[in-house]
Amino acid sequence: MENKNAPVLVQAEGVCKYFKVSGGRVLHAVEDVNLTIHRGETLGLVGESGCGKSTLGRTLMGIYAPTKGKLVFDGKEMDLHNKRERFAFSKKAQIVFQDPYASLDPRMTVGSIIEEGMVIHNMYDAEGRKKRVAELLDTVGLNREHANRFPHEFSGGQRQRIGIARALAIEPEFIVCDEPISALDVSIQAQIINLLHNLQDELGLTYLFIAHDLNIVKYISDRIAVMYLGSVVELASSDELYANTLHPYSKALLSAVPIPDPELEAKKTRQIINGDVPSPINKPKGCAFSSRCPVACEECSKSVPPLREITPGHFCACHLVEKK
Ligand code: SF4
Repeated sequence: MENKNAPVLVQAEGVCKYFKVSGGRVLHAVEDVNLTIHRGETLGLVGESGCGKSTLGRTLMGIYAPTKGKLVFDGKEMDLHNKRERFAFSKKAQIVFQDPYASLDPRMTVGSIIEEGMVIHNMYDAEGRKKRVAELLDTVGLNREHANRFPHEFSGGQRQRIGIARALAIEPEFIVCDEPISALDVSIQAQIINLLHNLQDELGLTYLFIAHDLNIVKYISDRIAVMYLGSVVELASSDELYANTLHPYSKALLSAVPIPDPELEAKKTRQIINGDVPSPINKPKGCAFSSRCPVACEECSKSVPPLREITPGHFCACHLVEKK
């Protein structure tokens, strides 16, 4: 749960991540992202496929070094181009991947998969690691005997539990959950969400929770950041974002969320976003959403709207949204 007085654990200042692609062109996957995540908080990150959510997640936990900008972790600026620093950071930040089938090495036993990080970071002796693997299997709701089995012997939900145990093994402070339930059956999704919730309470973990299911994100997140074409366009507490949506893109995204009440659902006006997401190699000038925005004005294609605090704690990047 977010505690506004809790210290900031993760801070991105003007973080950009670019990739060189064929023909000398540059793909702007993440553009000038500024955000903070407090210790013990869950920050949800939403947006359409290909908007840069996963790249931002991987940059914030050190898999990618930012092309530009500053990443500060627990008050210390990280130099992720420095191998030693990157290695030390990898013990503090871990990731739970989307696909529990592809993310576990089929040739390794569950025990070796969970133990691997501890071996790399030289934690415990062999006996201590074995004990810790057993404890972690208990923690994620699996049996200790599962340590000797292989990933193909498990269901999707069990594999995701193994992925969570692997992430926890080296006692990280920050976990990027990259769409951790989207490949699972609906009946299993709630179990994994509850497990992540309980672990956060017990271990004081801090999460970046990436997802495209906006109902799940609202349920699990303290605050939510909405991304469009590599940039954060809106950021607010979950309740505030859903009650007072400001950005035209967020409004369209949220209008697509089904309401459980059939009467309200029937009355709802769905805002359709026309056109395709522009290429991150060749972004529109000015506001990146200007080519699809239903209320775009002349100014929108001339200058990039900065992310501004409109009301306390509610940030939006749109020329037409006035500060209150
Ligand atoms: Fe739409 Fe202009 Fe606002 Fe961008 S700045 S979201 S184009 S109104």
